[in-house]
Amino acid sequence: MTISVLARRDELKVGHTGLYIDGRWRDASDGRVWTHVHPATNEEISTFAIGSAADVDEAVTAARRAFDEGPWPRMRARDRIRAVQGIAELIREHREELAALQTLGNAMPITMSRSYGVSGDIAADLFDHFAGWIDKLTGRTYPTYTGQDMQFLSFREPVGVVAAIIPWNAPLLQFANKVAPALAAGCTVVIKPSEYAALAPLRLAQLIDDAGLPPGVFNCVPGPGDPTGEALISHPGVDKISFTGSRAVGKHIQAVAAQTLKRVTLELGGKSAALVFERADVAKAAHAVASRVAMGLSGQVCSSQTRAVVQRSVYDEFLQAVLDAVADVRFGDPFDPATTSAPMINPVQRDKVLRYIRTAEEEGARRLVGGEAPDGELACGNWVTPAVFAEVDNRMTLAQEEVFGPVLAVIPVDDEDEAIRVANDSSYGLSAGVYTDDVAQALRVSRALRTGTVGVNAYAFLPNAPFGGYKESGLGREGGIEGIESMLETKTVMIDLAR
Ligand code: NAD
Repeated sequence: MTISVLARRDELKVGHTGLYIDGRWRDASDGRVWTHVHPATNEEISTFAIGSAADVDEAVTAARRAFDEGPWPRMRARDRIRAVQGIAELIREHREELAALQTLGNAMPITMSRSYGVSGDIAADLFDHFAGWIDKLTGRTYPTYTGQDMQFLSFREPVGVVAAIIPWNAPLLQFANKVAPALAAGCTVVIKPSEYAALAPLRLAQLIDDAGLPPGVFNCVPGPGDPTGEALISHPGVDKISFTGSRAVGKHIQAVAAQTLKRVTLELGGKSAALVFERADVAKAAHAVASRVAMGLSGQVCSSQTRAVVQRSVYDEFLQAVLDAVADVRFGDPFDPATTSAPMINPVQRDKVLRYIRTAEEEGARRLVGGEAPDGELACGNWVTPAVFAEVDNRMTLAQEEVFGPVLAVIPVDDEDEAIRVANDSSYGLSAGVYTDDVAQALRVSRALRTGTVGVNAYAFLPNAPFGGYKESGLGREGGIEGIESMLETKTVMIDLAR
């Protein structure tokens, strides 16, 4: 039996969708559309309009007008809180539909799509969390410092028009992580979802339309990097770019933004390490590491710990447990709860992953399992079986470059110092895992690692905690107080108190 997702498409009533600009839905000015193709089957699902430079200009102009002249940045806190909470409620009501649309977009297995960290539930919680900051965005007063009697005080103000650009892998989470703090801060927004997973973001845009914000406050213009993304990042009307995606595009965006000194937040890729020590629950550690690389999105997650840095005394036990965990992988219809893992997002990404696997072998890493494109009924999709490499040297390409696929590199080390050295020997610094039951070791190692997050014996993501990267994994943080701060400017006002 061949896999097909067309019946799901029909059930979800997914049809052609337009651009959302200045409170109206319409097609692109040049009539261009993108045909969404499903990664598990390569079936054509639907079309949506993609924004030209003229459409982006119209969206930014609308957002600019709504910011400079409209009620949103000036609204009383109580009213803005209610508006942002209203979006949270609508998302919560549509959580099941949103999970299905996410799966229809990027082939994320439906059980993962419903799980908290990437679901409509966390998206709704992000809107609620940031709504909670609205009446707490307070400035400071400053004691007089020199002879002249002046009162200094500071205000926190919205940064302005925010261009939000998101990738395809967790669109519900990434949409909310940018739009919720921007709206809460009083900014106006133009979001560009990824061309590979626009279905769920477009539904979120419809829900925001239903919430009834003033026109121009929120705009959604899907499309590819060129022309849609390029038009957005170079537009003089944009004050801030909040980007999640690859390191290469992030560097380009920072360079373009520098021309007009737009503010930037960059959430980029990683080559994160899981450090597994002698005192770990090795079976549990292996299961956690293998699951994140082989299950769910099959390693297409920025924070995946794709280097396992393992103390030699538990190395063989770890490898065996990883192989056992990988054997549980099930490919198939992503709407079937028995399916554990996703295909690659498109054929280009599948071929890139297969190339990395060949290079790893050429450089002398030992492939224990996987790394193949299956045939039979799966040949219609972009599947790659999870690959485990042993005896990897940290200088190999596989240990240094982000593959963004189901490939685990296992690196043996002698002791804690060597484990830290190897883990930190990376141009990336997004996440890390520390597996040990020794609290002092867990803390020592967490402090020594140069990464934005460290998970000790587990890894998770919450709306109220900061997330982001060290080194070339990013700039700035999303989530919690850091997330709202990134959407604010500080203005200092000084008043002469002389009579
Ligand atoms: P990508 O960089 O190819 O695309 C990301 C977004 O940028 C898309 O919307 C794309 O259309 C847009 N884009 C591409 N070129 C552009 C340009 N020149 N100007 C403006 N916009 C442009 O990344 P992807 O393949 O969608 O996602 C995978 C990458 O994202 C991985 O590197 C992954 O690690 C990273 N990622 C990071 C995080 C994080 O929070 N740190 C989360 C998820 C994914």
